[in-house]
Amino acid sequence: MHNNGISAGNTPERVGPMSTPIADELMDLSRRRVALRDKTAPLPATTRVIAVSNQKGGVGKTTSTVNLAAALADLGAKVVVIDLDPQGNASTALGIEHNATIQGTYETLHGATTLGSVLRQSQQHPNLWCAPATINLAGAEIELVPQGNREYRLRDAIAEYIASSTQPPHYIFIDCPPSLGLLTINALVAAGEVLVPIQAEYYALEGVTMLWNNIAMVAQSLNPRVHISTILLTMVDARTNLSREVEAEVRSHFPTQVLTAVIPRSVRVSEAPSHQQTVIGYDNNSSGALSYREAAIEMAERAAASAQQAPEIDASHHESHEN
Ligand code: ATP
Ligand code: MG
Repeated sequence: MHNNGISAGNTPERVGPMSTPIADELMDLSRRRVALRDKTAPLPATTRVIAVSNQKGGVGKTTSTVNLAAALADLGAKVVVIDLDPQGNASTALGIEHNATIQGTYETLHGATTLGSVLRQSQQHPNLWCAPATINLAGAEIELVPQGNREYRLRDAIAEYIASSTQPPHYIFIDCPPSLGLLTINALVAAGEVLVPIQAEYYALEGVTMLWNNIAMVAQSLNPRVHISTILLTMVDARTNLSREVEAEVRSHFPTQVLTAVIPRSVRVSEAPSHQQTVIGYDNNSSGALSYREAAIEMAERAAASAQQAPEIDASHHESHEN
């Protein structure tokens, strides 16, 4: 059903006595590499602000944020990643310094500085910029409580940044912490859409209902545009029945949101952050990188297809596709 680099077994391609699961897998990888070589992705007419959220920990939020962002940046989009998690994992994975003296998301939320002035360029992906998260951000959940406009801080910072940019980004990804606190609320209020990574394991859907309800509440009271546009299955092992069952269950619950591309469990994906790299930069042709590149293109194509059905009101935002 999906394209995760692992052949299903008795497929029509499996011919001849030389065919083994490993040979099939290598064939599949090489076919996907070739298919991606000259692939392009349509650029959105206006900035897509995407909150990557799931209050469940360790499901692949940060990994998906940085790798989708890197894949889109390498395809020519201008991309900003806002690290909204005090753990600062997205900053680390992008090789962006984030010690406590560095100005980042925390200062932006407090209004001490603008979003534009804290952005740092990725060395590996020149089209990719990151607002780093420092440990200071851990205090923000509480410090923002008594402050005015506390749910709108990030939305206003992003709006000011886009309005003052000569070349606004095509994508802003917000990497959320594993909670539904004020930081995540800020992301949901700032975002036009939400991407939910779901790990292919037992209880995969546990908590998604809560997230769904929370997003509905934010949509009702703070940001009517926000909705779950995309669900990405992560850490899939297509060789196990469990993974296949979970995938089928998630697809039946969310038939329109789940991407066809799924992310396999892969050693290269888990190794990349320790080298301060995305897997796109670390091993661009590994199965994990190919899957994130396919997922990124699918996200771009889906949005372009639905924009054609319902054209954006403001299509003049990006006059050219240059960065
Ligand atoms: P948190 O809730 O703590 O922010 P998260 O949802 O952002 O976590 P990640 O940090 O992206 O999750 O991933 C959790 C762990 O799983 C990390 O060690 C990461 O390297 C690993 N991981 C993520 N995706 C994969 C994958 N496809 N294959 C193997 N390991 C993966
Ligand atoms: Mg994370």
